[in-house]
Amino acid sequence: MKVLIVGAGGREHALAWKCASAARVSEVLVAPGNAGTAREPRVRNVPVAAEDIAALTQLAIAERVDLTIIGPEAPLVAGVVDAFAARGLRCFGPRQAPAQLEGSKAYSKEFLRRHGIPTARSRTFTRASFDAAWVRAQRAPLVVKASGLAAGKGVVIADSTAVAVTTAQAMFAGQFGTAGHEVVVEEFLAGEEASFIVMADGVHILPLATSQDHKRLRDADQGPNTGGMGAYSPAPLVTPTLHARIMREVIEPAIRGLAADGMPYTGFLYAGIMIAPDGTPNVLEFNCRLGDPETQPVLMRLMSDLTALCEAALAGTLGAASAQWDARAALGVVMAAQGYPEEPRKGDTIEGLERAASLPGKIFHAGTALAADKVVTSGGRVLCATGLGVDVRAAQREAYALADTVRWRGAQYRRDIGYRAIRRGA
Ligand code: AMP
Repeated sequence: MKVLIVGAGGREHALAWKCASAARVSEVLVAPGNAGTAREPRVRNVPVAAEDIAALTQLAIAERVDLTIIGPEAPLVAGVVDAFAARGLRCFGPRQAPAQLEGSKAYSKEFLRRHGIPTARSRTFTRASFDAAWVRAQRAPLVVKASGLAAGKGVVIADSTAVAVTTAQAMFAGQFGTAGHEVVVEEFLAGEEASFIVMADGVHILPLATSQDHKRLRDADQGPNTGGMGAYSPAPLVTPTLHARIMREVIEPAIRGLAADGMPYTGFLYAGIMIAPDGTPNVLEFNCRLGDPETQPVLMRLMSDLTALCEAALAGTLGAASAQWDARAALGVVMAAQGYPEEPRKGDTIEGLERAASLPGKIFHAGTALAADKVVTSGGRVLCATGLGVDVRAAQREAYALADTVRWRGAQYRRDIGYRAIRRGA
């Protein structure tokens, strides 16, 4: 069986590595991949951009690909699954219509409200309908969100209503291009965040292992928001009771609601959830794909064949499938380039990868490229050093032993990934 993974980040390296480990998989192609996928056994990079839908379908036909898994959101929102389906190609991910859940926060908020799923109170504006007086009458802090895809940068937490107004106006003026034509202004929610990721086949739901990530750049969850500086699985925050509540109040009504709206959802569905002090799981956002870096620790723990689970979902038989998980914890530490997230420097040579390969755990590549025979940095988030252990603390030790073996000029990473879980005794 031949598998195609679309994307170039750490999530896609983990997907390719996991799929290549299945006995029935002969080869995994990655479009376009990175230096890590280039060096992975039974994996081959192909120079096709993740957004080039026509070239991706041609590639799948020419290479006789049996199963394609889409990593990032942009091709999903642009309709890659519809294009594959039109040619009879099996592609795991939501179609364009339900992918709006991530592609439009305005749509997503309206969907949540209509289906009675808990979320922050909000209003959506265009430049023409913007009501600055309403914003000024709210209690700060407020959260201002560009509705469209903004590469994880379109959310601003405004400490005052005045800042909320100027932030919304900057978005209308084109700060995030067309993503800011609509802007959601919502109440700030206190609590702790959890990532809840499931697979769905339109009707049935298979929850993946729980996970939690750290979005802030610096230790103790300080500094600017990033794409994610580390993650671990399981998340002790999500107790069995809370797990059942999230399924009942968020995931099941969402999958049912999408089907009722005539757009059944097949693919990974990621809910970013703020757990209120009273336990209410408020949805902050939906993503129509796996999280990065949550994927790396989650897939380290998956013992089942991921390609078989994707096939079951595409066949509508996910209800009869189950996933086996390693009882150990996994934890990933993201190593970022100097200047991340504002202006990451590229082109630095990464040392120590060979030594790291002889240690337990796994380094997943993200922003890396091959230059001559060297691995160099080529993006903001460069590597994710991922360890396993009997508990989160042991997984953390293994992950940092790996991270500390690798060096390049200006590498930065947090020293405290997993501290919340460890504080909980995990
Ligand atoms: P989003 O892309 O909507 O998930 O927002 C990115 C990040 O901003 C989230 O992971 C939260 O850390 C934060 N955030 C978003 N919405 C809210 C909110 N209503 N209250 C508090 N924090 C939020």
